[in-house]
Amino acid sequence: MHRRHLLRLLFVGLALPFSGPAHAVQQIISVRGWRSSDRLRLVLDLSGPVKHQTFELAAPQRVIVDLDNTRLNTNLAELPLAHSPIRSVRSGSQEANTRLVFDLNTPVQMTSFLLSPSEGKGHRLVLDFQPRTPSLLADLVVPASPASSGQRDIVVVIDAGHGGKDPGAVGLKGEQEKVVAQAIARLLVKKVNDQRGFRARQVRNGDVFVPLRKRVEVARRYNADMFISVHADAAPRRSASGASVFALSQGGATSTTARWLAERENRVDLLGSQHLLSLKGKDPVLAGVILDMSMTATISTSLDLGKNILSSLQSVAGSHQKRVEQAGFAVLKSPDIPSVLVETGFMSNTGDCKKLVDPRHQQKVANAIFEGLHQHFRTRPPQGTLLAKMKESQSV
Ligand SMILES: [Zn+2]
Repeated sequence: MHRRHLLRLLFVGLALPFSGPAHAVQQIISVRGWRSSDRLRLVLDLSGPVKHQTFELAAPQRVIVDLDNTRLNTNLAELPLAHSPIRSVRSGSQEANTRLVFDLNTPVQMTSFLLSPSEGKGHRLVLDFQPRTPSLLADLVVPASPASSGQRDIVVVIDAGHGGKDPGAVGLKGEQEKVVAQAIARLLVKKVNDQRGFRARQVRNGDVFVPLRKRVEVARRYNADMFISVHADAAPRRSASGASVFALSQGGATSTTARWLAERENRVDLLGSQHLLSLKGKDPVLAGVILDMSMTATISTSLDLGKNILSSLQSVAGSHQKRVEQAGFAVLKSPDIPSVLVETGFMSNTGDCKKLVDPRHQQKVANAIFEGLHQHFRTRPPQGTLLAKMKESQSV
């Protein structure tokens, strides 16, 4: 092929099909990236609102993002792309427009949405790259221990509450719930992985925003035996203190605090992009009936699990409620995966908050949560697991 022709082809690859009146030219000021267990998220900080289009091209696989009337005013070279679905990123410009080309390692589902200024941040364009093959995701989290002779590990999916633009509850000195939750979740992951017959998976392993429904989906994808969401919330009454454990209720919440907290946790989803949420495609009546049948059994297991966790947590964190409460937390709505939400204490309580940010206390809390769930699974090991096998051999 002639060199000239090749050059022209290369140019066509980056050429931009834009035309139209020139509006104020905006800038991409910086690009930030995070990797969570299920995706790579890039955030483009913009000087103002922009119009953008995205599309995919094959051979080689790549995602193209075109930004109208926008100049790239930052370096893309330092993005954390190792072990991500993106192999490399290139940029091109024509007149005032910018094209970003993301070369891929694996097919992805790309979602993009714009965020308006909030909480000290300006206009942003968020790009989420989610691999279509879950095997790649598994490599990003905890290395899988090989399941031998059909005695699989009990899979515990651990969800650190909040994250990214959603700090959760904030203490008097600005301590953030999302940081506390992540710290305890990490310690719990280690604790679970150290125990033979158990394996932990994380919903988020970094400071990223994950919509609530997405968190439930992660548990499903890992075939979780249980899902636990770690929080440290706030209450209007500053004297409220101690730990609480919640399971899902199908009807009303068991107390006003439970209802208040559930509303608070669920409201977070409204911060997420509408583009990420989809409630379509299900027959509502049929879906409801199936869900109810499965839910009842799951809630009973969740309550037992919650009871064990609460009783071992009480000595470490004190208790806010003596029994497991039930409320309509969106994050607990897996029809077939026992799910609990643990409020490890109150960020709004001075004493609790001081303890919650202390790594030694965080370790004690993680240990107590683990003891509770370990106790539950020792008594009720799921079929086909190593623990079930061990229990069987003990009773013979
Ligand atoms: Zn929370």
